[in-house]
Amino acid sequence: MIEFKEVSKYFAGKAAVSDLTLHIAKGEFTVLIGTSGCGKSTTLKMINRLIEHDKGAIRFGGEEIRRFDPQALRRRMGYVIQSTGLFPHWTVEKNIATVPKLLGWSKPQIDARVSELLALLNMEETFRHRYPHQLSGGQQQRIGVARALAADPEVLLMDEPFGALDPVTRATLQQEIARIHRLSGKTIVLVTHDIDEALALADRLVLMDGGKVVQQGTPTALLTKPVNDFVRRFFGQSEWGIRLLSLGLAGEAARRDEWLEEEGIAETLTLREALSLFIARGTDRLAVRDSNQQPLGVLHFADLLRQKKP
Ligand code: ADP
Ligand code: MG
Repeated sequence: MIEFKEVSKYFAGKAAVSDLTLHIAKGEFTVLIGTSGCGKSTTLKMINRLIEHDKGAIRFGGEEIRRFDPQALRRRMGYVIQSTGLFPHWTVEKNIATVPKLLGWSKPQIDARVSELLALLNMEETFRHRYPHQLSGGQQQRIGVARALAADPEVLLMDEPFGALDPVTRATLQQEIARIHRLSGKTIVLVTHDIDEALALADRLVLMDGGKVVQQGTPTALLTKPVNDFVRRFFGQSEWGIRLLSLGLAGEAARRDEWLEEEGIAETLTLREALSLFIARGTDRLAVRDSNQQPLGVLHFADLLRQKKP
């Protein structure tokens, strides 16, 4: 759906991004990761032409993006940034309706869409009349996401969207964006420098350094088949095994033909979270329940050693 072919971007003669080749498939959740200054934001902004590329080609649905009118292109791509960019003197409702209004939607259409998005993002209907300063940071960020999704864009671009939030709010919003991705099947490109955020969300990871792609592939591939020492170091040699566990789910690893009479853990818990519970409870077996709280199976401590192959 989005294709970079040998793309470079220079600022004052210095390459911020060089020779970047990337394929972003429709419906895929792609995460651009790397240390500060490696060219992630520049790459993201070249997709919606907030920054124009100097060399190479960027195609959207097969067509060079220079052929699109930049405004029209941006309406097809939701954009979420860390500082939300909400208009302070506009209500939540008016902020969310920014693009639908530009597209000429009717008032009833807009009202219905605002309600739908508030529900999707677990916000009360009454929030629609509030102003941004009457919301917490996490709530503002939810409205930022709602606004980006308002006109049902084909692509959602997110630049460190949860960077300014506390760890608990951040984790909640990560789960919500993962849920929205599952429900909507939208193509999402998210930029972060947070390794655990990247591993929790990505179908496909693109690790950048010095304006270049060092390695791209599934999170499991990057963790288990690093192409060089940079990749190995980036994912932290000492944390490596724990991070691998964060890619597996309790429900997938549990033994289906066993059961234990206990409260049990959710199937959506990662194996990393399960490890923590094994230790905290001093046990080597945990009952796992499905989303309807029904018995699903039993996870054994030893099952943590049987990792999915990339
Ligand atoms: P990241 O998002 O990975 O932290 P950026 O894409 O923002 O990195 O920046 C990549 C490089 O390009 C950095 O060296 C940065 O200083 C430089 N850069 C980014 N934007 C500009 C700009 N508008 N003018 C000059 N240099 C810039
Ligand atoms: Mg950046």
